[in-house]
Amino acid sequence: MKTSSVAELLQSDLLLQEVHLNGWVKTFRSNRFIALNDGSTIHNIQCVVEFEKIDQESLKRITTGASVSITGTLVESQGRGQSLEIQVSSLEILGDSNPEEYPIQPKKHSFEFLRENAHLRIRTNTFGAVMRVRSALSFAVHKYFQEHGFTYVNTPIITGSDAEGAGEMFRVSTFEPNKAPIDEKGEIDFTQDFFGKETNLTVSGQLEAETFAMALGKVYTFGPTFRAENSNTTRHLAEFWMIEPEVAFMDLDGNMDLSEDFITSVLGYVLKNCKDDLAFLNQRLIQEEKGKPQAQRSEMSLLEKLHFVVDNNFKRVSYTEAIDILRNSKPNKKKKFKFPIHEWGVDLQSEHERFLVEKHFKCPVILFDYPASIKAFYMRLNDDGKTVRAMDVLFPGIGEIVGGSQREERLDVLKDKIKNIGIDEEELWWYLDLRKYGTAVHSGFGLGFERLVQFTTGMANIRDVIPFPRTPQNATF
Ligand code: ATP
Ligand code: MN
Repeated sequence: MKTSSVAELLQSDLLLQEVHLNGWVKTFRSNRFIALNDGSTIHNIQCVVEFEKIDQESLKRITTGASVSITGTLVESQGRGQSLEIQVSSLEILGDSNPEEYPIQPKKHSFEFLRENAHLRIRTNTFGAVMRVRSALSFAVHKYFQEHGFTYVNTPIITGSDAEGAGEMFRVSTFEPNKAPIDEKGEIDFTQDFFGKETNLTVSGQLEAETFAMALGKVYTFGPTFRAENSNTTRHLAEFWMIEPEVAFMDLDGNMDLSEDFITSVLGYVLKNCKDDLAFLNQRLIQEEKGKPQAQRSEMSLLEKLHFVVDNNFKRVSYTEAIDILRNSKPNKKKKFKFPIHEWGVDLQSEHERFLVEKHFKCPVILFDYPASIKAFYMRLNDDGKTVRAMDVLFPGIGEIVGGSQREERLDVLKDKIKNIGIDEEELWWYLDLRKYGTAVHSGFGLGFERLVQFTTGMANIRDVIPFPRTPQNATF
């Protein structure tokens, strides 16, 4: 007999037919009702066991977490809370689960506890929902780009360029830590290392993606990224996935349009295709918010927030305007910001970004034209000589979700900037070549995939939206 998934059965027309399914026992009550889940949907299917049809030995082994194989008839449910159920005709225990030891009991567990059991937390309703939404989002990302004429590029994970400049890097080496060869200057001799030079894990695929954009026009990367930043926040991971589109002949305005259209499209996709999981996550958040003091509760539910982003335009504001708003804001005047805003030129902290988004504009915000001094060397210098064509997309609850820019396409200007920050031109010869041969206006951005999943699922901590989080002092599993 064909094996069906719970998702298939719950919306099937197999009423009164014999069906077969496998799954894990969520709960077993009254020695009669199994709530069975197989991960295909947030919903369990109720399987009703008749005493006579099953031996006492097997009955005892139906415990939370056990895997079972069930054959039975799909019928309309007698009980409340579900429309269909299965009258079990035969049941086989595939794998026992000792109820005294199984960590995932049918009760509320803290996210900290579940992180320590990341290999089992996927079996909870919340993590099942989050991971299915993550998968759908990931599909929606590829769908969007493929349907808009972008070519998918896999940029290298091991990089030999130390000019990416986006963060602290993890070294890649085959040297034994205490037996690395030393050169005449007393320094480690990397010419003898595997690649004959210093290499690291990538912090961004952008520079390589630019080479592809300057040949294929519209490209995107979607791959793992590594940053050895020792920041224990709810928004940073040491290993995360980044989406980086890069487009030739597109300026910063086009870049802002693209980021907005892209984000609203993928959110629209999950709103349409992950209804059950989002409804569950919405309820979960409402319950969680009830435990918070009134002032800290969010004004919108998760679903309202998602619809709000999809239905409204992002507000576009220059860095200079934003500084004015912040300088004159209540929290600034009342000295409520940890980092008070005095003058133009400072980098914005998460508290400022969240004030602009959550309190002032009450919608996603795109900030653009940042001071050159706080942004990367490859961003295009404006005619004022002090700002660059950078943009950050800021989201409620998260702060920065996208960082992007129009790239400097003028060889002389780029060379100057490289010199000023003290990078050796030789290091970037291939990057400079793009400006020598058929240079063109081009732009792109980086979007941290986990921050998108965080926003979509309403999970407060980024560690709870990636299967096995890597953070300082933590790489179990
Ligand atoms: P932040 O200021 O939040 O640390 P950033 O300025 O370092 O971000 P970029 O270098 O512009 O970020 O990277 C592009 C995007 O990658 C960010 O907008 C964010 O969505 C994501 N991102 C950056 N660092 C991390 C991290 N450590 N973990 C998860 N996502 C990240
Ligand atoms: Mn950072």
